[in-house]
Amino acid sequence: MQLAFDNSYARLPERFYARLAPTPVAAPRILKINHALAEALGIDGAALETAEGAEILAGVRVPEGAEPLAMAYAGHQFGGFSPQLGDGRAILLGEVIGRDGIRYDIQLKGSGPTPFSRMGDGRAAIGPVLREYIVSEAMAAMGIPTTRALAAVATGEAVRRETLLPGAVLTRVAQSHIRVGTFQFFAARRDGEALHLLTDHVISRHYPQAAGAERPALALLEAVSARQASLIAQWMSVGFIHGVMNTDNMSIAGETIDYGPCAFMDRYHPGTVFSSIDHGGRYAYGNQPRVAQWNLVRLAECLLPLIDADPDRAVALAQEVIDHFSALYRDAWLEIMRAKLGLAEAQDGDEALAVRFLKLMEDEGADFTASFRALATLEDDDAFLQRFSDSTRAQAQEFLAAWRARLAGEGRPEAERQAAMRRVNPVYIPRNHLVEEALEAATAGDLGPFETLLGVLAAPFDERSGLQRFAEGPKPGEEVLQTFCGT
Ligand code: AMP
Ligand code: MG
Repeated sequence: MQLAFDNSYARLPERFYARLAPTPVAAPRILKINHALAEALGIDGAALETAEGAEILAGVRVPEGAEPLAMAYAGHQFGGFSPQLGDGRAILLGEVIGRDGIRYDIQLKGSGPTPFSRMGDGRAAIGPVLREYIVSEAMAAMGIPTTRALAAVATGEAVRRETLLPGAVLTRVAQSHIRVGTFQFFAARRDGEALHLLTDHVISRHYPQAAGAERPALALLEAVSARQASLIAQWMSVGFIHGVMNTDNMSIAGETIDYGPCAFMDRYHPGTVFSSIDHGGRYAYGNQPRVAQWNLVRLAECLLPLIDADPDRAVALAQEVIDHFSALYRDAWLEIMRAKLGLAEAQDGDEALAVRFLKLMEDEGADFTASFRALATLEDDDAFLQRFSDSTRAQAQEFLAAWRARLAGEGRPEAERQAAMRRVNPVYIPRNHLVEEALEAATAGDLGPFETLLGVLAAPFDERSGLQRFAEGPKPGEEVLQTFCGT
């Protein structure tokens, strides 16, 4: 088994991480290998399926060229600062260069305790591992930047949560695992040298164009801010709620990372929260853009000394970038909303039209994904209006009239518009009740529903016969109102 490791993070000073190997487990058994991803990374997927592959993916055997380590980071969790978090149950094996020329981290998650584990056992149960597998791969299939799942293996060991559960390890692939919290780790220690090194590393790895800027650290802040604006707009466009947008869960590379109690909203409401630990609704659906901006302020604070030697000047420059986030986000969101509504041109009033559709869904308690998809496939108005109750039907009718008037002004052929709408309005998303069903079965030893769901979500925009159940919101009694991080 050959992995062409080319490790750059391990070249950074020793205080960036703790070097250690994963902790071996009793009986590794492959649950799932992502062959398409392996191929894209230039990794032999068939070799991963072997006993040797299972041992590597379970952390029993360290592959040649790996330089295993647990990364150090800090972070604001629900607004409170923890100066020391770090990989408490993950090991970075190393980096490989994908066929696309991009450098990727290969990380094992659930691979045993590290110096950063605090009270945790360093392990993961099969449910949360497969949950991250399903949701991250669904996000990737929808074209949303995300870490990926290369493999899931059972450990043959039990982990203790509320009950004893079968343990598993996820192999996660990311452009990097550097977080806002990684910068905070060094800023909290007033380690200017480390901040410099980290900034240079991140610029050369993720934002090379910033290297030539007059102020590279400021250009980095701008670039991270732009990627976050685009990412959050994409989350919002599919009803995704991350659930734990702590600064340690915000990737510097702009990928969705750390799938814990995340969820997709069924019925539209901006205040929607699923996470069992989010009592105040800090990370509610509608708060996500504001939280991203708050997190970027935390990043900006770390970068200030690198932006300008004069603190006042540094603050003024950073503040401009932070303020600009709102416009970047709004533009990114509006562009996606136009596409979702089938609008090819930008016109005044588009935002109001989008807001009107959201308000209609909110007043009705309509399913977010199914409503957009219904608009994308609308043939006759009556069928569409059937989705609304007496109290909102007139409102729905008025919306349709306004939408049609707006479309008429563009003169795009209907078939072309509908095809375009179907490419941006998913029919299948990882709905909570479907995910729960798959995880429950897998925990009991049946991977069938997990495989089926993965297959459905692999082509989220292509409606296929026989899959109606996966396109619908939960029936009464099926609704999952709370999600858990399972750690
Ligand atoms: P998360 O909620 O997954 O973003 O994790 C927050 C912090 O808790 C990170 O430092 C994790 O490494 C750590 N952590 C979460 N679960 C465990 C676990 N089972 N054992 C050790 N550390 C953990
Ligand atoms: Mg985390």
